[in-house]
Amino acid sequence: MEYRKLPHGDEQISVIGVGTSSIGMAGEKEIEETMNLALENGVNYFDMASADAAPFPAFGRALAGRRKDVFFQIHFGASYQGGKYGWTTNLDKIKRSVDWQLSALKTDYIDFGFLHCIDEEADLRHVFDRGILDYILELKQQGVVRHVGLSSHTPEIAHMAMDAGILDMLMFSINPAYDYRDESEYAVGSAAERQSLYRRCEAEGVGICVMKAFSGGQLLNAKTSPFGRALTEYQCIQYALDKPGVLTVVPGVRNREDLRRILGFVNAAPEERDYSVLGTFAPQETEGVCVYCNHCQPCPAGLDVGLINKYYDLALAGDALAKSHYANLEKKAGDCIGCGHCDSRCPFHVGQVERMQTIRTYFGE
Ligand code: SF4
Ligand code: SF4
Repeated sequence: MEYRKLPHGDEQISVIGVGTSSIGMAGEKEIEETMNLALENGVNYFDMASADAAPFPAFGRALAGRRKDVFFQIHFGASYQGGKYGWTTNLDKIKRSVDWQLSALKTDYIDFGFLHCIDEEADLRHVFDRGILDYILELKQQGVVRHVGLSSHTPEIAHMAMDAGILDMLMFSINPAYDYRDESEYAVGSAAERQSLYRRCEAEGVGICVMKAFSGGQLLNAKTSPFGRALTEYQCIQYALDKPGVLTVVPGVRNREDLRRILGFVNAAPEERDYSVLGTFAPQETEGVCVYCNHCQPCPAGLDVGLINKYYDLALAGDALAKSHYANLEKKAGDCIGCGHCDSRCPFHVGQVERMQTIRTYFGE
């Protein structure tokens, strides 16, 4: 398992996490076994926005003596009254729900306390002005909440929460269908807006936890994929992990079988993770834009083309650290010998020979 460090903390987070939205139907025994399997395989990140209450007591039991081995993302706004999920911005309900979640999980702290599923400005105002954010911050002061997060599908809302300077983590929907298609049809925000949000997260040290990496399963089937072509789970996971700011992807699993399949990503060959096929069906406007996939490797001069491009884009977006990350690279844009191998291999038709010159001039090396 690979781990990525939370920028505003010491937590090392597994790149594969577990989403619990549809595990409730499996029954308590299978939920416990799934948690055990996850822990045995180095998964330490669990998103607890579930469709029902069942995962909480099951996880509580499975975790006995191992609480320190996991990070929980708990949603302030998910209510489980009556055993089923409900969305709420009512402070009293939220307090009751958080108390219940803590006791069911048999824990007294929350690794990540999330403002839950906020996609409208009015709802964000509501949680800011009517005590919900204050409640999380109060718990943070008491040491009950370790980090504050937000789950949203809307770049504009994510920016507003980041402007308030409260976030350590953002849960955001990232997949090629959302990033590359018309926003009114599939996702909120244009491709450029979405990319610029990811870069801002990286620049400001807000980690991204990815939901909907398979676009709710749409992308896995040619009949439902907006591209008319299916991608695999591993291609979608790698796509999300290559985006700036991303720390972990949390696919929803229904049972151990689902989890085993997802865990196969960890040992999957580079060809199984390679999503460069996207270049053949992504829309015209994404032509010539580097997505950091490294399909163009190997570079005979030893350049990590994807990483050099990522640092350049981040630096342009104002990420102060990107310059020093670039400076630490063994091979830089100036080492490019202009052989054109990457240009001939790039499915997105990026002109790297020219771009490497631009990057060299920009960084001054
Ligand atoms: S130049 Fe093309 S193949 Fe290489 S990392 Fe960028 S998008 Fe991928
Ligand atoms: S053009 Fe430059 S970056 Fe691309 S493969 Fe050749 S040496 Fe490497």
